[in-house]
Amino acid sequence: MADKFYITTPIYYSNDVPHVGHAYSSFIADTLAYYKRLEWFDVKFSTGVDENSQKVVEKAQENWMDVMQYADMMATKHRELWDNSWIRYTDFVRTTEPRHRELVQKVLQKSFDNGDIYEGVYNGMYCVGCEWFKKESDLINWRCPDHPNKEIQHLAEKNYFFRLSKYQDRLLEFYANNPDFVKPRYKFNEIIEFVKWGLEDFSVSRETNKFGIPLPFDADQVTYVWYDALFNYVTYCQEDESKWWPADVHVIGKDIIRFHGIYWPAMLWSAWYEAPHNLLVTGYLTLDGQKISKSIGNVISPAEYIEEYSRDMLLLYLFMGFPIGEDGDFDRAQAILMYNAKLSNNLWNLLNRFIALSLKLWGTITWDVWKVWNEKIELYQSCMNDYNLRSALETAFEYASEINKYVDDNTPWKISIDTEEWTKNLNDILFILISNLRKIAIMLLPFFDVKMRELLSRIGTPYDDTLTLTENLSIDPSVFHVVEKGEPLYMRIGK
Ligand SMILES: [Zn+2]
Repeated sequence: MADKFYITTPIYYSNDVPHVGHAYSSFIADTLAYYKRLEWFDVKFSTGVDENSQKVVEKAQENWMDVMQYADMMATKHRELWDNSWIRYTDFVRTTEPRHRELVQKVLQKSFDNGDIYEGVYNGMYCVGCEWFKKESDLINWRCPDHPNKEIQHLAEKNYFFRLSKYQDRLLEFYANNPDFVKPRYKFNEIIEFVKWGLEDFSVSRETNKFGIPLPFDADQVTYVWYDALFNYVTYCQEDESKWWPADVHVIGKDIIRFHGIYWPAMLWSAWYEAPHNLLVTGYLTLDGQKISKSIGNVISPAEYIEEYSRDMLLLYLFMGFPIGEDGDFDRAQAILMYNAKLSNNLWNLLNRFIALSLKLWGTITWDVWKVWNEKIELYQSCMNDYNLRSALETAFEYASEINKYVDDNTPWKISIDTEEWTKNLNDILFILISNLRKIAIMLLPFFDVKMRELLSRIGTPYDDTLTLTENLSIDPSVFHVVEKGEPLYMRIGK
């Protein structure tokens, strides 16, 4: 049986359409899922929407809509964006679905029965924006720093609490035994420090919210949004839990790292599940030096960006411009420069040279030399296995530059076709070009699937689902008869 690989995006709030930060997370998950498929893993890739939230209720009211009607509309918008961006998820969960409600009630009951969930009174401050309780030390001028426009609420109500404090030692032991649990490492260190300071139990239910999943042991309370949201990752694999759980990678934003790095393993253990293998944490983006926010009005819509430019340009820039984990500035001009240099020039040069040479030689091509730069392929694989997408892309583009340089050094355009020399040299150059170009296209498939399939067809060795990075394909000289001049693979933008 093939190895399995289960990767997730966060479930996105359904009170808004996804922004470019969400697209970044979805692109990461999609690319890694695709790569694992190429490596013959059995892959599950889940995404979805978080609907059981007071924010959704408020948004529905603002729009004069029924809550479920509003949630349906937003779920459709999310799916449309991912479908139009070639995000090939295998599962899409909505937290209002019966399969999810049943699971959450099941795990709540388990934790209640073993004493990890107990009744208490919550007395304190709460930010509606974060949907999270706040300590005085979290606030600036009695406002949440992330939601300065929202009043902090004072709450005193009966709640149920999760006994997180019980899991402190087990968490620290787990971190010590799993040094790669959170990537990048400096994000992991923040979590470890936080846990060492001591953990407090946290509230898992609300009395005042009515839109949500009722506690199985107290129907007057609904479970609190985080507890409900996190278990979506298990909802996807209920049919075959023993195969798919634990998840291999949760791609998450740095704003939810504590919930995933601390609460989530403890909640899972309490309900007799294993902790996930890896958290891959992304940073924050700013736009042209400014924080991206609705109030500033500079939100980048991935749908509009893709329509104006292209999906591949957005993905390329996000991956090359922002190493996973770091904050960065989205610079529109830089995105165009990068696209022109990497996709429009470098790859097109290679393809164009291959086309010119095969048109010149067609009819005289005799033998097949298969010589590829194996060290590039190995380097690429180690980057992908380490979830280092930027270095993997860099490796592929450097590989393309080296093959371009190889052609420059051998000056095939200077070799006259009627000399003895041409048979040997031009054939060698042509086959080295096609075999390496094919490898580069396969490396780039997880990133730019549609265009790389086109590239593979244009060099006469079309995509089929048995191709692998390490194959030694024998190329029949007759493939060259399909080669045509054609349009550039990626149109250059600007002058
Ligand atoms: Zn807040």
